[in-house]
Amino acid sequence: DRDGQGQYELLEEIGRGSFGSVRKVVHIPTRTVMVRKEIKYGHMNQKERQQLIAECKILSQLNQENIVKFHSWDFDEQRQVLYLYMEYCSKGDLQKLIAHYKQEHKYMPEQTIWSILAQLLMALYRCHYGEDAAALVTIYDRMRSPSSHPRNVVIHRDLKPGNVFLTSSGDSTSVGLVKLGDFGLAKALENSIQFATTYVGTPYYMSPEVLMDQPYSPLSDVWSLGCIVYEMCTLRPPFQAKNYVELQNKIKRGKLDTELPDYYSNGLASIVKSMIVTDPTQRASTFELLQDIQVRTSRKSLQ
Ligand code: ADP
Ligand code: MG
Repeated sequence: DRDGQGQYELLEEIGRGSFGSVRKVVHIPTRTVMVRKEIKYGHMNQKERQQLIAECKILSQLNQENIVKFHSWDFDEQRQVLYLYMEYCSKGDLQKLIAHYKQEHKYMPEQTIWSILAQLLMALYRCHYGEDAAALVTIYDRMRSPSSHPRNVVIHRDLKPGNVFLTSSGDSTSVGLVKLGDFGLAKALENSIQFATTYVGTPYYMSPEVLMDQPYSPLSDVWSLGCIVYEMCTLRPPFQAKNYVELQNKIKRGKLDTELPDYYSNGLASIVKSMIVTDPTQRASTFELLQDIQVRTSRKSLQ
């Protein structure tokens, strides 16, 4: 399942992220445009390299329309680089969409926010619970006990607007298909030196328990998703501070600087509040949130 060399034609670099350079490429056999991310592994020890490969194998099995499709990976042993090939999303990311509304001094339409929320929940749900819906209740119970969650559960760990991709341009009324990228990669890279030195982003979306050095759980992703939804409504992250320590304190207290604008419904405000809850055992799960949305939608259609 590895790709040989020479299968891809290199196009322009589209950015530099936490893991290294990101390029557009063409997969020659299928004439498909894809994205190639490079990860330098020279400094990683054997265990870290194995974890990275294990993570790639899990990612290549994730098939859900709201998750950026991971195609394959490939080593350049001479340069000590791992290349990850994935679906190319050409219409930008949520960070840019939020910036657009902010610049125009306009609210993001409530319908757009619900659509993005529902699609991201579908992506997380698939990863948090696995493919087997029948096992759902047991897994759900196990998720409630903080120390154990089922094997093969994928936690995103780096949910932020920049990792949410759009597939249609923002000018139409419907936001179209939304896809979550960079699943699980943060885990394989968290110990790596490269990650530590290039990951300069402010942890606006990091959950209080993770800031307190407790392990990530699926509920940590829910916190981050809550922060993203809040940001879509207010056009700024929920917790802002002048420095890291102040940010950490704000997040741990979990007190939001401002309420959502009156422009948005109480329903949306209450769903955001059920996600930004400091105690993870009191926080809504993706399962509960999807149920909540389903109930709201069916109530609306009965009216
Ligand atoms: P970040 O740490 O900001 O998430 P990434 O390495 O994920 O950085 O991405 C770097 C740049 O490449 C960003 O501008 C991002 O929007 C873009 N990018 C990443 N993945 C994709 C993709 N699958 N399709 C299109 N653009 C992408
Ligand atoms: Mg990214």
